[in-house]
This record gives sequence, C-alpha cells and structure tokens, in this order.
Amino acid sequence: MTLHRTLLGGLLALALPSAALAADTAPAACAANAGWNDPATPLRVHGNTWYVGTCGISALLVTSDEGHILIDAATPQAGPQILANIRALGFRPEDVRAIVFSHEHFDHAGSLAELQRATGAPVYARAPAVATLARGASDRSDPQFEALEPFAPVERVVALVDDGVVRVGPLALRAIPTPGHTPGGTSWTWRSCEAEDCRQMVYADSLTAVSDDVYRYGDDAAHPGYVAAFRATLARVAALECDVLVTPHPSASRLWSRLGPGADQPLAEPGACRAYAQAATARLDKRLADEAAGTLP
Ligand SMILES: [Zn+2]
Repeated sequence: MTLHRTLLGGLLALALPSAALAADTAPAACAANAGWNDPATPLRVHGNTWYVGTCGISALLVTSDEGHILIDAATPQAGPQILANIRALGFRPEDVRAIVFSHEHFDHAGSLAELQRATGAPVYARAPAVATLARGASDRSDPQFEALEPFAPVERVVALVDDGVVRVGPLALRAIPTPGHTPGGTSWTWRSCEAEDCRQMVYADSLTAVSDDVYRYGDDAAHPGYVAAFRATLARVAALECDVLVTPHPSASRLWSRLGPGADQPLAEPGACRAYAQAATARLDKRLADEAAGTLP
C-alpha cells in the first residue's frame, strides 16, 4: 500500500508540472497561411461576436440570451470543429436560431447541412443561392462552376430579400447583397458592444474575380449585367460603416495579425472595408484587361 502510494505520488509529481504548464500555455496562434481545416482555438472577436471557425476558414457566432446566429459553415470537414468551438465557449448549438453564410461554395457552405441538423436552425440565403444550396452544387451562372466541389444539400433554406435583416431576439444582422465572386454572395453587418465600446462589425464576402477555364467576366452577352452588379458590390462594400472587418478567408483581411495570440495590430481599422474593396476592384480591372488582351495566366 505504501509502495503503491509512493509510486502514485511519484507519478503525480511527474505528471503535475507538465499539466500546470499546459494550463498556463496560451492557445496556439493561427498561421497566416493556415490550411482550411487546421483547428483553431475559439475566441471572442468583440462583445457578443465570437470566432468559431478553423484557422483557414472563418465562422462567427453572434450571441444573445434569446438565441444565437451562426455565420458560415466552412468546409465539409469542419462541422465537428465548429460545433466543438461553440461548446468550448460555453454556448449550446441547440440555441443557434438562424444560420447565414457568405457564398455558395463548398469551402463556406460545406457544413451547412450538418450544422442545420445539429442546431435545428433555418439557413437564410439570397435568392440566387437558394437552388444551389438545395442541390449542393452550383450551375453555369457561377464563374468557378467547372472547378467547384459539391457539398451536402441543405434542406431548409429560407429566401432572404435584398437588404433583409435576420433577427434573433435582440440580434439584427443586415444582409448586404454582394454578388460577383458568386451570384448569391452576401455580406453581413451588425453592431457588437463590450460595455460602452460598440463597434460596427462587417463580415464581408469574398470579392475576388476568379473563374474556371471557360468563364469570361467580360462576356456580357453570356451573363448580362454581371460585371455591373460586381462593380455595384465593390462600391457597396467600400461605403459600409465598418469598424471591424472579418472575411470568409481570414487571410484576406489579415485576421490573425489583428486577433488572437499572434496579433500585433489593432482589430479595428478605419477604412478596412474601403481598402478591401479597392484591392478587389484592382483585381477585377486586371482580370478584365487580361481577358481582353488574351493574356490570362
Ligand atoms: Zn472560399
């Protein structure tokens, strides 16, 4: 018995320092170039807005006493991580009352069906994305159609009107139509407060002009008005009231230099949305010039 206790004590003595060390160690920072499914430690962004995605693909939870709204569903592999992150923050997936998303591609809509099953919440989508979610696949209206992977079809999709507001209790997320990267692309904005410190949050969708080998943005006959709508998107994003910008790909807004243990810059940046839209405008202009000159990379 004595020997046993001593042995056990020795084992505990060996085990304790490393356990204490582990508890003191800050969560690992996400690398700027993290993989899409690299696990992230969930953390507070500002007030009632929380990061629950992976290191490489964003998902946000906006919380209230009367239920939560989940923004984005990352890849088909990320669902369990998002659910675990919600629980790790002390929230219950069952209290998510609405799910919204950025755009209808597998790297952001991939776990919508799984997260809908886990939460029981409806998924809200702008009209051009509704059929895509129901099929789990895009069509030729999407510039990247031939290069896209399918994802699990989503059963309960509620069509949003443009500039619609998704409300859960005191929460109100405004949908901003931002077609261009995809036809159904949507950005989201809401206000989050930490005591008296209130910030206008913007989850701005991907704005990159990128396509498969067939699609040409400049072929207006094939998709009338698409580039004009894309330009209207860029103007809309540039003009947003925008204190804190988060993007579906964290790297697109340098999120891990502004949030989490590796951050060395302020989370809120004046003009963040304007700069994000300006960079996307330059990319669209170059893309159209390359198409016209026959010099696509
Ligand atoms: Zn993406």
